[in-house]
Amino acid sequence: MSAEASYDVVVLGAGQAGLAVGYHLQRAGLVPGDDFVLVDAADRPGGSWPRMWDGLRLFSPATYSSLPGWLMPPWDDAARGFPPRDHVVAYLRAYEERYRLAPLRPHRVRAVRRADDDPSGPLIVESPGLTLAARHVVSATGTWDQPFWPTYPGANDFLGTQLHSSTYRRPEELAGQRVVVVGGGNSAAQVLAEVSTVAEVTWVTQRPPRFLPDDVDGRVLFETATARVQAQREGRAHDGVGGLGDIVMVASVREARGRGVLEAEPMFERLVPDGIARADGRTLSCDAVIWCTGFRPALRHLAPLHMRDDRGRVPVSGAAGTRSAREPRVHLVGYGDWVGAASATLIGVGRSAKATVAEIVDSLQK
Ligand code: FAD
Repeated sequence: MSAEASYDVVVLGAGQAGLAVGYHLQRAGLVPGDDFVLVDAADRPGGSWPRMWDGLRLFSPATYSSLPGWLMPPWDDAARGFPPRDHVVAYLRAYEERYRLAPLRPHRVRAVRRADDDPSGPLIVESPGLTLAARHVVSATGTWDQPFWPTYPGANDFLGTQLHSSTYRRPEELAGQRVVVVGGGNSAAQVLAEVSTVAEVTWVTQRPPRFLPDDVDGRVLFETATARVQAQREGRAHDGVGGLGDIVMVASVREARGRGVLEAEPMFERLVPDGIARADGRTLSCDAVIWCTGFRPALRHLAPLHMRDDRGRVPVSGAAGTRSAREPRVHLVGYGDWVGAASATLIGVGRSAKATVAEIVDSLQK
C-alpha cells in the first residue's frame, strides 16, 4: 500500500500523551504538518477525557495537572474542589490549538507495518482512508479503548446490567436500584460515592481498600513518584506511590465516608442470575454490577510488528525507557509506569515525552 504522505514522526493518539510529545517535537525544531503529524481516532479533542463519566473530578489541583509549557488554567479548588472532567477537556482543546498541533481526526489506526526488510526504512501507518509513512512512530493511544473485565463464573447468566467504569455515565441511570461496585481503586471509590446517593450500593474489593490520608492528593503522589525515580538512579530503595495507599480522598469520597458507605466486603465468588454469590455461600440480589477494574494498554495496531515477548509484554529500552526493544522505530508514551514513572498522568507525561523526543531527534540526526 503506498503512503499518501511521509513524516519523520507520526504520533498515534492526540490525548495528553500525544500532545506532550507534539509539544516537545516542536520545541526540538520539527514542524507540525511538515515533519510530524498527530493522528487520532476520536472526532474531537481531549483524548479519553470526554468519554469519562460526567461527575469525574481530578485528584490534583489544576496547577499540578499541567502539560509541558503551559499551566492548566486555575480552578477554584478551595471553594469548588478539584477540577472537573470538562475543565481538562477545555484545557486539552486549547493546548492543541495554542501549539498548532492540528491532529488529523477521526482516523483510527488499524495497523503499523514495516515497509520492507530494511531496519532503517519507513514504517507504514494504516487507517481507513489514510496511509502514512514514518521514520519513527510514537504510540500514545492510552488505555481507554481496552477496558479490563475480569472473568467470573456466572457472568453470562446474570440477568441484570453489567457496566464497566468506561461505560458508566451518571448516577441517575441507576436510581433506586441495588448496585454492586467492584474494584479497590479511585474509579471504584468515586463511582461508589456518587451512585450511593441514589441507589443501594455494595462495594466489593479483592483486598481491603487502602485509603490515602486526607491531605495526600495527586500532587503528593507525583512528588513521591519523582523521588522514587531519583532513588532508583542513585541505587537506593524507595517504596514509591504504592507504599502510600491507593484511594485519593477527593471531596465526594470523603463525603461518602461521612455517610458510612465506604465499607467494602471481600470479592464475591461468582455471579448468579439475580445477583452475586459470596465465598461463604450467602447470596445478594442486585440489579447492576459496575466493574471498576481498570484498563490495559490499547496496542492492537502494533500487532503486525510482533513486539511482544513470551509473556505478552512489550519490552522497552533506551534512555527514555519508551523505545520498543524489538522495533526501535516505535516508542510508547503514556501507558503507565512500565514506560515511565507517572506517565499516565497529566503532570507526569511531560517528562516521558521530553526524554522520548530527545531520543528520536538523536536518531533522526544519525
Ligand atoms: P487517552 O487520553 O486515552 O488518549 C489516547 C488517544 O488515542 C485518544 O484520543 C484516542 O482516540 C486515541 N486512539 C486510541 N487508539 C487509537 C488508534 N488505534 N488510532 C488512532 N488514535 C487512537 N490523571 C491525572 O493526572 N489526574 C487525574 O485526576 C486522573 N484521573 C483519572 C480518572 C480516571 C477514571 C482515569 C481512567 C484516568 C485518570 N487519570 C488521571 C489518568 C490519565 O490522565 C488518563 O488515563 C489519560 O487519559 C491518559 O492519557 P493518554 O493521552 O495516554 O490516553
